[in-house]
Amino acid sequence: PNYISVSKLANLLNCRMESLLQDLKKLGFSNLSQGYILSREYVELILQEYDYRLPDSSKELTPDNVYDALRTPANPRFLQKRPPVVTIMGHVDHGKTTIIDYLRKSSVVAQEHGGITQHIGSFQVITPVSKKKITFLDTPGHPVFLKMRQRGANITDIIVLVVSIEDSIMPQTVEAIKHAKNSGNELIVAITKIDRISQPKQREKAIEKVTNDLISNGITVEKVGGDVQVIPISAKTGENMDLLEEAIILLADVMDIKAENSLKTMAEGWILESRVSKSVGNVATVLVKKGVLQKGKILVCGNTYGKVKNIRNEAGDQLSKAFPSDAVEVLGWKQLPVAGDQVIEAKNEATAKKFVSKRLALLEIEKEGLTVEKLNEQRAIEA
Ligand code: GDP
Ligand code: MG
Repeated sequence: PNYISVSKLANLLNCRMESLLQDLKKLGFSNLSQGYILSREYVELILQEYDYRLPDSSKELTPDNVYDALRTPANPRFLQKRPPVVTIMGHVDHGKTTIIDYLRKSSVVAQEHGGITQHIGSFQVITPVSKKKITFLDTPGHPVFLKMRQRGANITDIIVLVVSIEDSIMPQTVEAIKHAKNSGNELIVAITKIDRISQPKQREKAIEKVTNDLISNGITVEKVGGDVQVIPISAKTGENMDLLEEAIILLADVMDIKAENSLKTMAEGWILESRVSKSVGNVATVLVKKGVLQKGKILVCGNTYGKVKNIRNEAGDQLSKAFPSDAVEVLGWKQLPVAGDQVIEAKNEATAKKFVSKRLALLEIEKEGLTVEKLNEQRAIEA
C-alpha cells in the first residue's frame, strides 16, 4: 500500500509532529490529525517542498518486505568463503544435461552412495584437484529463477555457457549471453563435444572458430586480453572436465565469494522447489544464502513458517547443519512453501507467528484495494 500516517512519517523523518503538521497546512491540507493518511504522491511532494530526507528504513511495509525486519544487520566478522553457485546455460542439444549427468555421477554424495536416485534439482561436487565444493543448480531456465530475479535475488554466481564445437553460436547461445550480461554473473565458456573431432589440427581450428564467434558476440575471452576462460571439453569421455571444475574454482577465488557463516546470523535463503511427501509431509529445497540452518531453528517463508525438523542432502542423508551455498531439503513446515519465495529465520515461534500475521494483514489490505480516501473516511467516522 502506498500510504502512510502523518505520525509515522514524522517518525521516519525524525522531525517533530507539530512542525510537519504546520508544513502540511501550508500545503493546503485541512482536518489534519496525527492519524491522517497521506498517499505516496503527497509524501513525495512534501519531501520535495521542504527538503526532508527520507532515511532508508522508510520503505513502506508491503507483503514482500515485511520480513526484512527479521534480518540481522550485516556483520563482516562472520564473513567466510562459501562455495560458488553455478548454472549451466546454452543452446538446446549443446550438452547441458550431459555435463550435469557427468558431474552428478562424480558428485560427493553420489560417490558415497554409488549413484543418486533421488535428486533435488541441485547438487554439490568436490573438485578433483583443489578439493573444493561447487553447488550446481540444474534448472536455470525454470520460471522460479525468473521470479527470484524479479525480487532482486541473484542466486547464482557463475554461468557456464556451453557451446558445441560443431554448431558454434546458435540463437539460444545468444540469449544466454544476453542473460549473463544482464544478470551480472561471471561467465565461463565450455566448448562441448570436442571428442567429435578427433584430428588434433581440425579440432584446434574448430575451437578457434568458436572462440572467434564468442569474441564477435562481445565476450572478452582470454585470447583478446579479457578474463573469460574458455575450456574445450567432452562430457562424454570426461576429457577436460577437471579443467572446467578447476576453472570455476579459480574464478570463484578471484570473485572472493563470501557469506556470513555463523549460527548467530539469522539464516536466509530461497526456496528452489517444494513438494508434499506422503511419509514426511511438506518438504522444501532451500538454497542457503547466509547463516546456518540447524534442526530446531524457526523459519518464516511466504505465508507460512516452520520449525526445522530435519535437513537432508540430495541423497536423503540427514545433516545436522547446512551452510551458505548448500541446497538442502528442509522438513517441518506448517504449510507447503512456494518455490521462489524467500526464507528468513525468526528468533522464535511467537515472532514467526507475529510476522506471518502481519504479512497476511498486508495482503488483505492489498486485496481489499483500500485507498487513502477510504481510510481517511473511516478515520473521520471513528473520530
Ligand atoms: P542439452 O539439450 O543442452 O541438455 O544437450 P544434451 O546434454 O541432452 O546433449 C544433446 C546430445 O548431444 C545428446 O545426444 C548427447 O549424448 C550429445 N552430447 C552431449 N555432450 C556430448 C559430448 O561431449 N560428446 C558427444 N560425442 N556427444 C555429446
Ligand atoms: Mg537438456
